[in-house]
Amino acid sequence: MLGGRGRGPLLKVTPSPLWLALSGGLILLLSTPSLDGPHPPLSTTPSPAITDSGYAAPDIEAPAPNTPLTATTTPVATPSPNPTTTSTDTMTLMPNTAKAGTVTPSPTATPGPTTAVNPPPVAARVKVPILMYHYIRVNPDPADRMGYNLSVTPETFAAQVEYLTRQGYRAISIGQLVAHLRENQPLPPKPIILTFDDGYRDFYTNAYPVLKRYGQKGTVFVITGLIGNKEYLTWEQIMELATDGIDFGAHTVHHPDLQRTGEGQAAIEIKASKEALELALGKSIIAFGYPSGRYNDSVVNLVKAAGFQAAVTTQQGIWHRERDLFILNRLRVTNAMAPEALVRYIESQ
Ligand SMILES: [Zn+2]
Repeated sequence: MLGGRGRGPLLKVTPSPLWLALSGGLILLLSTPSLDGPHPPLSTTPSPAITDSGYAAPDIEAPAPNTPLTATTTPVATPSPNPTTTSTDTMTLMPNTAKAGTVTPSPTATPGPTTAVNPPPVAARVKVPILMYHYIRVNPDPADRMGYNLSVTPETFAAQVEYLTRQGYRAISIGQLVAHLRENQPLPPKPIILTFDDGYRDFYTNAYPVLKRYGQKGTVFVITGLIGNKEYLTWEQIMELATDGIDFGAHTVHHPDLQRTGEGQAAIEIKASKEALELALGKSIIAFGYPSGRYNDSVVNLVKAAGFQAAVTTQQGIWHRERDLFILNRLRVTNAMAPEALVRYIESQ
């Protein structure tokens, strides 16, 4: 698939007015060289704010120690206390047990607790390292410490993926993690998620061939307003990667700090990036990445309202629960991590 072409241009898709106004227009604007100076938010070179520095969101309460959802739930088989109840009446009380249409009378039954539910067996907590990469490149400017810290060389990356594969790790999608936590869908024995923030073009040239070689997959969080810019993936590359097992998540249109944009603007950044990707790829985009890991309760609610099913932060950790799907922890990978050190780091969590 490398170097493959022949997909229809994006513009054949009829964009929504919102997307046209906010993404399409900006993509075109961003492609023009005159924007370097006068429009700070549209600068084509990443400002320091674009980097995903570790960032703890103070206003998201630390989760309480794990309490398995299924352990103490009362079974729902408790019959209705009223043996003469018709099926219609019963259905309003116990929708999960009245589907057969008739209720078996049980005079000795005591009323069941009103909180009785019939949940599917849900995984309470699961260990899935979500690794966070940015550039897969040799950092071009030794003086650029930020760029250096965000870069893993192709050589290091290949060694890491090779070793992870040999150790039995299998890359899954964020959708699989969601399905496991919500519906107890099975996961491979040593699941891992490989994420790549910002949508740099070196994912296509340097990371994707390695993932393909080892049969692993990746999830790329793209800044839709920068697609096609120098250093960033093009729409054609994104569409090609998507047909070959690479997943895409939204990472806003312009990579702002969503805590500071105001709710209206944040909602647009979140929604428009989702819509742009969905228009291009023709499938639902379920994962979101908070730019620079910055979020608060209001931002989380906007991401939920936009229809995402999960969101990743830059906070450190590998354990996940259903209730934390919108504040998923990750592990930052650096070029200093030799493959064995990376696995030790993962397994020490
Ligand atoms: Zn980012």
